[in-house]
Amino acid sequence: MTDLSSPAHAAALDAADPLPTLRSEFLIPRHGDDEQAYFVGNSLGLQPRGARAHVEEVLDKWAMEAVEGHFTGQAQWMPYHELVRDPLARLVGAHPGEVIAMNSLTANLHLMMVSFYRPTRERPAILIEAGSFPSDRYAVASQIAFHGFDPVTDLIEVEPDEPGGLISMATIERAIAEHGPRLALVLWPGVQYRSGQAFDLPAIVRLAHAQGALCGFDLAHGVGNLELQLHDSGVDFAVWCHYKYLNSGPGAVAGCFVHAHHARTDRPRFAGWWGHETSTRFRMGPDFVPTAGAEGWQLSNPPILGLAPLRASLDLFDRVGMPALREKSRRLTGYLEALIRERLADTLDIVTPADPAQRGCQLSLRVIGGRGLRGRAAGRDLFDYLADNGVLGDWREPDVIRISPAPLYNTHADVLRFARAVEAWRDTA
Ligand SMILES: *Cc1c(COP(=O)(O)O)cnc(C)c1O
Repeated sequence: MTDLSSPAHAAALDAADPLPTLRSEFLIPRHGDDEQAYFVGNSLGLQPRGARAHVEEVLDKWAMEAVEGHFTGQAQWMPYHELVRDPLARLVGAHPGEVIAMNSLTANLHLMMVSFYRPTRERPAILIEAGSFPSDRYAVASQIAFHGFDPVTDLIEVEPDEPGGLISMATIERAIAEHGPRLALVLWPGVQYRSGQAFDLPAIVRLAHAQGALCGFDLAHGVGNLELQLHDSGVDFAVWCHYKYLNSGPGAVAGCFVHAHHARTDRPRFAGWWGHETSTRFRMGPDFVPTAGAEGWQLSNPPILGLAPLRASLDLFDRVGMPALREKSRRLTGYLEALIRERLADTLDIVTPADPAQRGCQLSLRVIGGRGLRGRAAGRDLFDYLADNGVLGDWREPDVIRISPAPLYNTHADVLRFARAVEAWRDTA
């Protein structure tokens, strides 16, 4: 039997992996003389080496060409968003006209709800998962209240029915059927941020539409992690950020998808000059005529400095392609899972589903209690121990450590380092 937890085995897995790591394309934070084992790509992805050149290009252009930079030379600012549009569309399985990089995730969620949450007396409700990311909950509750309805009755939260906060498809189906006639919108995550559960997104769209509701996705933890087919799913809209698995830097410009079936919609929207029909935008007329597709939801001219790192990141995704990256992700996370089951079952409970189709790269791990050092809660203690040893995960109160091997830059050796650090902690406790 192979010893899963020997460094030689991990090194052999890395050497034999069909998709060689792109780790050297990233700047890996240091831990003393070593590199960190960085598993927090679900929170802030690492910096691609190519990002700096794209940012400097913008700074140089600004220095040398100033306003002319909009119209001259390489990577002109006026059509700059086109540099990210096609790779972004490939990444999420969309047509180029269905995606736009703009604003931030929560701002885009609000803009999308302005158009796609149109409550009526009969149909005022929004359905989301219980325990959703706070910003999403604040956004939907405030939209409901903004329209004069009451979040207490009209924000429907689907409670988990399985251990660890997982939600079965049967429960989602039942909830959508039960509330169907009152539902204006179903808003669902691609990957639930706390549990790491991934969902059958096309099925959720079908269930929502069958009840006459619209459907939107929050893909903060899905983009760059799952193989998405947004166009084929038929989802009405989706929003995501680019600083997690998309490695585009803190507060990076976010992403937004509007399905082609809404390309020429006369739905209400909050308008700004950058969403105006491109050919006539600079006539500066008084009346808003939206440009077709997702670009028609833009408000302002985009922050070019903010978009620059996204180009470097998308180059890497394009080089590999999501299908191969997802396969590698399954291998890495599968190795993490195997190590935990074999070596750490007395210390860590895996919250995230065991079925690879129901998760992305992240495993959410509940620390089994009673092993705390210095009288502190075990989970927090382990988390701090890992950080002190250069193994970075993240912590979600009250007892969950999230470990997300990012297939672009994490290796089997990183995963083994995590498992060995947990063992060392356990054995000194
Ligand atoms: C990370 C994340 C956010 C963050 O919102 P910002 O507007 O980018 O600050 C929102 N929702 C979910 C589900 C997230 O995972």
